Amino acid sequence: MIIDAHLHCTGRETVDDVLQTLDDAGIDHGVLLAPFLSEGYALDDPASLRRANAHLARIVAGHRDRLTGLAVVNPSDRSAADDLRAAIDTGLSGCKMVPSGWYPYDERVQPTFAVAAELRLPLLFHSGIFIDGRSGRFCRPSFFEALRDHPGVRVTLAHLSWPWTDEAIAVGLIDRIHGRSGADALFRFDLSFGPPPPYRLEVLRRALEVLGPESLQFGSDCFLPCPGTEIAQRRGWLGDLLDQLEVDVGARAQIWSDTAATWLGEAASSIGRGACTRAASRPARLSRCTRMRPLCC
Ligand SMILES: [Zn+2]
Repeated sequence: MIIDAHLHCTGRETVDDVLQTLDDAGIDHGVLLAPFLSEGYALDDPASLRRANAHLARIVAGHRDRLTGLAVVNPSDRSAADDLRAAIDTGLSGCKMVPSGWYPYDERVQPTFAVAAELRLPLLFHSGIFIDGRSGRFCRPSFFEALRDHPGVRVTLAHLSWPWTDEAIAVGLIDRIHGRSGADALFRFDLSFGPPPPYRLEVLRRALEVLGPESLQFGSDCFLPCPGTEIAQRRGWLGDLLDQLEVDVGARAQIWSDTAATWLGEAASSIGRGACTRAASRPARLSRCTRMRPLCC
């Protein structure tokens, strides 16, 4: 079982090509994000995000076994809390937010977080530097500690927050110090790589040693529509690192699927009923990790 917990929609994909891509990549379940970076959609245009969320709701409808949809809202917008509630009513299961022009501890964004807590939603946040020129100063992992004021949410910080990976691990460690297991912790981290290739092995080693696999989950960060080989290649990057670290079968299962399934909670209840039609075997190594491109969004 493999869950890709970080897949971007662009508005150009259809449900048929999304399912085909997942099949070709050997992915059993995809967590899709509403479009916000492609033409016609923008974080500072709430109407466009409402259209984006409606588009995603149409994609995932009837395919809960294979697809989970996360709405995108800009919580600094006054309509965001209502827009989030409306998106969940249409069949989306959680929310992706990107701190850009707002900090997670700002008063004005707390109402959206409160709705997410009330609805007990899984949340995905961009965390770490941006590669598109935007300032990453809003996205340091410790800023997300404000979410502790909203018990009920389950937070994933993307990209292991690179370059602030030590800070991210520290944020994740706090729950453990206070006796909460990985499954019950407020924070977990996705391995859609932000760290450039020379950092990845060491970053993953430290995260595994300090937090364990129950705080880590796979995400390709691919943009749909895309060929399955693109997702499979990114699977291969992570698989190579797990091989190098000699990670055991149980820990791999946690990273490939179990951490994300726990994060998704109710939304994951039908995962696995319609597994991908291709064998989910590990793909061939398509590139050495030392040639990986830096990613993140
Ligand atoms: Zn992304």
